Amino acid sequence: MPESKYIRCEEVVEHLLTFLDGEAEESRRKLIAQHLEECRSCCSRVDFELALRHKVQETATRKPTVRLKQKIRQLIDEF
Ligand SMILES: [Zn+2]
Repeated sequence: MPESKYIRCEEVVEHLLTFLDGEAEESRRKLIAQHLEECRSCCSRVDFELALRHKVQETATRKPTVRLKQKIRQLIDEF
């Protein structure tokens, strides 16, 4: 496969948060999305990030700041 069209897992991980925040460059976003379709390990990493964010948001809206750090730690331990 031509190197210029594909990116490695390391690069996906490196830019994952930017990607999820929708702040990645258009070209990089496409490459990451393409990679995620084919890479199971990166895909499950994204699932993890999204699930974590979702739970953190739920927690945050119910109980602002209270024990949020503990909750995050707990969620990470559960995974
Ligand atoms: Zn990957």
